[in-house]
Amino acid sequence: MHPENSKSEPRHAAPPKVRIGISACLLGQEVRYNGGHKRDDFLVDTFGPFVEWVPVCPEVELGMGTPRPAIRLERIGGGVRLRMPSTGADLTDVMRNFSRGRVEALATLSLDGYVLKKDSPSCGLERVKVYPPAGGAGASAKDGRGIFAQALLARLPHLPVEEEGRLNDPRLRESFVTRVFAHHRWQEGGRAGWTRAALMRYHERHELLLMARNPSALRRLGRLLGDAGRSDSVQELTDSYLAGLTATLSRPASRRGHTNVLHHLLGFISDRLDRGDRAELVATIERYRLGLAPLVAPMTLIRHHVRRQEVECLRDQVYLEPHPHELVLLNHV
Ligand code: SF4
Repeated sequence: MHPENSKSEPRHAAPPKVRIGISACLLGQEVRYNGGHKRDDFLVDTFGPFVEWVPVCPEVELGMGTPRPAIRLERIGGGVRLRMPSTGADLTDVMRNFSRGRVEALATLSLDGYVLKKDSPSCGLERVKVYPPAGGAGASAKDGRGIFAQALLARLPHLPVEEEGRLNDPRLRESFVTRVFAHHRWQEGGRAGWTRAALMRYHERHELLLMARNPSALRRLGRLLGDAGRSDSVQELTDSYLAGLTATLSRPASRRGHTNVLHHLLGFISDRLDRGDRAELVATIERYRLGLAPLVAPMTLIRHHVRRQEVECLRDQVYLEPHPHELVLLNHV
């Protein structure tokens, strides 16, 4: 039941705690090669109360100790290796084996997302520096991915994964948290066992979220669950739907996409509003479209009207409350 389903209920029942894997140094654990940490205030202080963190430091868990000599990615022959320049040791295979096993264990924990430390040869998601071999000629290039991150993405391709650096961008941050909670609802649905009806219910609740990102993908996913997927088994349908859902949600919604959905919502409730309320909502959506107001402004008005006018067909729409309001993520997009 959606938390807003009754006027007498508090607007926000306690939100679920999501379980997220994280590079341990981002929580303030002193596990870096130099004995330091990279505590991330947003993740720990703001997001933390809604999260059960699963911290992992691949290098410490591998037994490298703290402090330890620095390691880095090096381009050797046609491939990229993980090396410790001070000793010349090649740690690629040992880190790969460790990562495969660690990620296999993580796969049993029903994670809802993962936050990785940027630039790390173990944890970095993208643009990790790859050096020429020690003593070799050539320039370094920022086109690598950490060894642990590679294993994580290969084993859990539908998991929302981000780097802490990218989470400083309000749009990417809002998008990541939205994906994490969508993933959490997906896992909850799967626990009871997916049926065609349950998939359709999930889809209907997330329609506007999908529409804001890609209206044609929304139609495709709707067709998949309708007649087009009738001959598929429920398992095939679930797999295809999840692949489409992941691909669609992985791109943040644009201002244009949100404006489209806001107009769609306006169409639903317009007849129920008096002239003043309608004009106020139209003007607020326009201010958002022009970049003069954040998304929270029209969204707050719409939520208010949906609740007051008891617009049943919109009450379960995740789009109206994709994550806990305490995170104030819609104030910055
Ligand atoms: S980036 Fe990864 S390997 Fe490096 S200290 Fe942080 S958790 Fe450990």
